[in-house]
Amino acid sequence: MSEKLLPCPFCGDKGEITEVDSYSMCRRYNVFCKECGGNKYNDACSEAEAAQTWNTRPLARAERNKVLDEVLREFEAKAKACCDIWEKQGLITEAQHARGVTLYLEEIINRLKNEN
Ligand SMILES: [Zn+2]
Repeated sequence: MSEKLLPCPFCGDKGEITEVDSYSMCRRYNVFCKECGGNKYNDACSEAEAAQTWNTRPLARAERNKVLDEVLREFEAKAKACCDIWEKQGLITEAQHARGVTLYLEEIINRLKNEN
C-alpha cells in the first residue's frame, strides 16, 4: 500500500483498506475502521482512491479553500496592475478587464471547492 491512512475520522483508531463485494465487473475498495467499522460509504476502483477518500477531512478542505481565496485576492491585485496598463493604451476599460478575469477565476475556484 502506497498511501498512508490517517486515523479514523470517527474514533481515531486505525483504518484498513478492504476489497469489498461489488456488483460491477471491476474490483472495488473501501477503508473500514478496525475499531468502529466507520467508512466513507464510497467504494473506489483502486486502493489509492479509497485511501484518498478516507484521508479527506473537512478541515483539510477548509484550509485548501482558504489558500484558494488568498490566491484569488493575489491574482486580483496583479490583474488590477495589468489593467492599468491596458487602460492607458485604450484597449479596454479597467472595469471590463478586472470583471472578466475575476469571474473566470471565481468559477474555477468554486469548482475546486465543490470537489471532494
Ligand atoms: Zn473508527
